[in-house]
Amino acid sequence: MNEGPTQHRAIAAENRGAPAGAPTVRSSLKLLLVAGVMLCVDPARGATPPPSSAASANTESASAARFTPPRTFVQVKGDLWRAGNGNWWSLIYVTPDGILLVDPINPDFAAWIKAELERRFPDKAVRYIVYSHSHWDHVGGASIFAGSHPHIVGQERILKNMDGRWPQMPGNIIDRNDNGTIEAEEIAIPTLEHPGICGLGRGAYEALDRNHSGHITPGEWWAVNGVVPPDIVYSDRMTLVFGGRTIQLIFPGLNHADDGTVVYFPLERVVFSTDFPADALVTTSMRSLPSGCGAFDRHPLSEWIRSYRTIESLDFDILAQGHGSITFTKDDLVEGRRFFEDLRDGVAQGMANGKSLAELKESLLLGKYKSWAYYDMLRKDDIEAAYLNLKNYP
Ligand SMILES: [Zn+2]
Repeated sequence: MNEGPTQHRAIAAENRGAPAGAPTVRSSLKLLLVAGVMLCVDPARGATPPPSSAASANTESASAARFTPPRTFVQVKGDLWRAGNGNWWSLIYVTPDGILLVDPINPDFAAWIKAELERRFPDKAVRYIVYSHSHWDHVGGASIFAGSHPHIVGQERILKNMDGRWPQMPGNIIDRNDNGTIEAEEIAIPTLEHPGICGLGRGAYEALDRNHSGHITPGEWWAVNGVVPPDIVYSDRMTLVFGGRTIQLIFPGLNHADDGTVVYFPLERVVFSTDFPADALVTTSMRSLPSGCGAFDRHPLSEWIRSYRTIESLDFDILAQGHGSITFTKDDLVEGRRFFEDLRDGVAQGMANGKSLAELKESLLLGKYKSWAYYDMLRKDDIEAAYLNLKNYP
């Protein structure tokens, strides 16, 4: 990775008194150079759209492998823009010293957005890429930007998720036989249990398994998607000063991912995060029942609720998300948190009263949310996910 003076200047407001050219490490900010573990990506392979997409909305992921989704570039506020690959969205911040990009999504989209940025902002290079979390369908394609040597920034658990062991994955994709690789049968289980919601889309596994071995290693998974590990990580919060602007990176807690970052732009009063709170089912409204795959990704419901509250505590007007064609507000966030609280409380109460899961599915109607998207399809699934969550991940 390039370690030029601009990058050194840009790290954490608290560290600006450090000697010139010396990256400073403090407890919540670790500057790690991991060039030695950079994945080797063949650009020709990387240019093929990955089968992407995880968790939820796998119908879209299946189709993503076959054609180019509609692409859009819209202003959020001031120098902040969103770029869409179908219902998958990146965020772009244009500063006097260059561009910060959150989530390159996949190699094909990354090549498109790179050309788009060069056309719209010809004197600006992408100097930072921030990962909203480690899932391949949002962080694929960083390799496309190698020419401008961007720093890649994320929460520190991303390094563990990308170290060669099987990572935390969305959509209840887990290494069920614990052999360190993923087989088609393992992905078929969540896909068939919750079609269109969990697992992968049709043909996605075959597209990822480029050598047709029937086993995909984590290294293959990352390489096929053009994923590059971060070289700057933090644990709880990090302030990035870049181009005279302040950007805050915040780990909200465990939710859909275990390594999420909420990116906060105080000047514009904008917050960006991906897959939490808006999962891939969200399009034009946050009033949408959560996909709930893997008993809410095996992270305690209390952590999900804590994550909502972490974002709620920020002073912002616009909630931009990695899914959803529009932006949202703090009120939308609060409603989402209340859904989780009502689901948790309703299921916990029923369990305390000795109700079985089957009884809970019949009696817990969550009527307040009857008008929300996926109410008929996901109410019982979400109750089951919450029941298993409270039982197994208290
Ligand atoms: Zn995800």
